[in-house]
Amino acid sequence: MKADVIIPCGGSGSRTGLSYNKLFADLGGVKVIEKTLSAFCRDDVAKIILPCSEKDEKLFKEISLNFDKDIIIVRGGATRGESVKNALAFCNEKFVAIHDGARPFVSQSVITRAFEIAEKSGAAVTCVPVTDSVRKKEKDGSVAVNRHDYYSVQTPQVFKTEEIKRAYNLAEKDGFTATDDAAVYERYIAKVAISEGNPLNKKITTAADLAAFVPEDFRVGTGWDTHALAEGRKLILGGVDIPHTKGLVGHSDADVLVHATMDAALGALGRRDIGMLFPDTDPAYKGADSMKLLEHVISLMKEDGYRLNNLSAVIMAQKPKLSPYIPAMAANLAAAFSVDVSRINVAATTTEKLGMAGREEGISAICCCSLISGN
Ligand code: MG
Repeated sequence: MKADVIIPCGGSGSRTGLSYNKLFADLGGVKVIEKTLSAFCRDDVAKIILPCSEKDEKLFKEISLNFDKDIIIVRGGATRGESVKNALAFCNEKFVAIHDGARPFVSQSVITRAFEIAEKSGAAVTCVPVTDSVRKKEKDGSVAVNRHDYYSVQTPQVFKTEEIKRAYNLAEKDGFTATDDAAVYERYIAKVAISEGNPLNKKITTAADLAAFVPEDFRVGTGWDTHALAEGRKLILGGVDIPHTKGLVGHSDADVLVHATMDAALGALGRRDIGMLFPDTDPAYKGADSMKLLEHVISLMKEDGYRLNNLSAVIMAQKPKLSPYIPAMAANLAAAFSVDVSRINVAATTTEKLGMAGREEGISAICCCSLISGN
């Protein structure tokens, strides 16, 4: 079958606390309406009609150009029903599916099922069983009812185009309004068959919905650092003072593990590297405690809205033996990032006497970290 799809887009942002239409809200890099439109860019959809308010027309038009589907932007009405009626004038396929713009998580199987049931039965309304217990309001309180007698109604709702047009015309004459299209159809045409929905096909209504549906942003970064070993310097790794005959040479305390860690975090944030942040030409950083510099990097993470998920680092040193100091390094990093120490892994390896680390000319460290959005 082929169907046209109407996606009413007239909503405001009032219940989501936005100053603009909630369909433009960001769902982790994609707008609500973009996700909804993507779901209906299917071979069995002929065209999509978006009724919206005059002020939103331009933006919906711009968004529609990014889709490989015929999308028509039309003027909505004062109510959802009026908007649907206006959009129906542009429908000429045998079937029309009507779907809430604010239900971006609709799955392909839910859409397919609604189409199939409409084709078989004439009309389909997507529903899910009510999972909460239900009470009915009464004049002087409320009374429990059997939730198994009820469905929670979702979209898409699919109808024969001519029938739903007729229903809306009759409803207009009667001044009949409803919160969904199946109610209008049922009043004037016939019963509607139930098509099984999905609990994840939620409608974004409130600010809490929006916050709950924005997926966590996940970032990964890598850092690498090397410093030369020389006598007369302290050996500091992961903020731990390690007894050794030599120490690392650098403008700061030359803590390669912390430097690699900072570069990994900055890399995940897309903030280049520590060379940019703490130039070694700046006397302020001479002899600097790298753990203090790390605090600054962590403050940038917080500023950008990220926290550490986990971190895995490897130190490459021929000598000294580092294993006794590793728990203290991991504890320092865990405290700095305010995470449990299980999220920090510090490993150490020799390089089998190969290369500069093997010749004890220097020590290197590599770090990979992952950050997640939210504080
Ligand atoms: Mg360095």
